[in-house]
Amino acid sequence: MANEDCIFCKIINGEIPADFLFEDDRQIVFKDINPLAPIHLLLVPKKHIRSINDLENSDQAIISDLIMRAKSMAEKMSVDKSGYRLFFNVEKGGGQEVFHLHLHLIGGWD
Ligand SMILES: [Zn+2]
Repeated sequence: MANEDCIFCKIINGEIPADFLFEDDRQIVFKDINPLAPIHLLLVPKKHIRSINDLENSDQAIISDLIMRAKSMAEKMSVDKSGYRLFFNVEKGGGQEVFHLHLHLIGGWD
């Protein structure tokens, strides 16, 4: 399932160290190394899926897991009340830099 050239698969497999803010059997959460905001988290499914374009019907639970986890991470990072943005970049023209599907959570502005 893992793609050997994929940096997120390497993080998931522990080949590249990262501080996980959350991990379960389906997803991980860690901080973006090039944050766009005071809080910038990446929510990454453990299954290697290139982008939103590559989702299959059987992947619906993966997407709902990401959204529900984003909600709880926003609470954990105390940006739920002040507000935050959730977004997927899709392919190069959409700003995607790592081709393993991930959800961005940004917030924490004054
Ligand atoms: Zn991957």
